[in-house]
Amino acid sequence: MEYYAGVDLGATNTRAAVADATATVIGAATRSTPQGPTGIAVTETVLSVVRDACEEAGIDPSSISVVGVGSIGPLDLAAGVIENPANLPDTIDRIPLSGPLKSLIGGDRVVLRNDADTGLLGERFYGEYAPDDMIYVTISSGVGAGVAVDGSLLSGWDGNAGEIGHMLVDPDGMMTCGCGRDGHWEAYCSGNNIPKYAQQLYEQHPMETDLPLSSTADTADVPFDAAELFAHAGTDPFADYVIERIGKWNAVGMANLVHTYAPLVINVGGAVALNNPELILDPINERLSEMVLTNVPDVQLTTLSGDVVVHGALASALLADGHTRPDNPEQFRK
Ligand SMILES: [Zn+2]
Repeated sequence: MEYYAGVDLGATNTRAAVADATATVIGAATRSTPQGPTGIAVTETVLSVVRDACEEAGIDPSSISVVGVGSIGPLDLAAGVIENPANLPDTIDRIPLSGPLKSLIGGDRVVLRNDADTGLLGERFYGEYAPDDMIYVTISSGVGAGVAVDGSLLSGWDGNAGEIGHMLVDPDGMMTCGCGRDGHWEAYCSGNNIPKYAQQLYEQHPMETDLPLSSTADTADVPFDAAELFAHAGTDPFADYVIERIGKWNAVGMANLVHTYAPLVINVGGAVALNNPELILDPINERLSEMVLTNVPDVQLTTLSGDVVVHGALASALLADGHTRPDNPEQFRK
């Protein structure tokens, strides 16, 4: 019997799942992603979580044929490592992945992809609806996409296709992105940047709020996070105003994706969307038909919840061995 493993390496949690050759998930495990001291600690956690999932599945890691990995970036695909991960502490400069995983399984088949491309593969292999033209968008610490056109995943020569978080949505460039450029989608809408955007909006439009904002605060150090802002929805006029503005920028970005790729559906995952589905998705769907000239797709929450990337990593491994989407994928999920 052949077995396959998938790993979702995120900034907060590292997850693994193991499937047999029918694509049925037979083991899974989760550990917290260490925040240091170095990248080796993260590598060790990846290996441990794969061992945990194998133990639950009752198999030895050496019986794994292929490991798929969906990871935070940036990735150096040739070296099989993450270099200077954007959303982990600065002491973590390099996380070796492919080499140590090959040693663990005693083989050389490790497929490394970014988490958004991996999420798309999860939807296409294990999701409820998998048309040839679809997009998976993650709204999390950052914003990214995996895009399928005519049934093909668009990766680009260096794997960086779909870096939509750095798409220009605001030509006036009120917000500066983490990448240093102005007006990028994720500078307004990612979990890391929403508090800074709220602070900037407050300086322009001070209004009644219970959030700890002041007109003299620095956007580098806003004393609340995105979750706290969303928790004030419906009771705090300023929070509602910020959420409305976030919806506008998300809709601009989604409309650009629709006109560029003509998807039949856009599935959205990532912690910001998963934790606030109506507050994120309703403002997008309300605006999209006014903004899109062509077919207006449904923008909906991923059908695989927080498991979308680990299922995508498994799909990545199964696809590498020629397996195809099961007829009734819900029966095969964990
Ligand atoms: Zn950017």
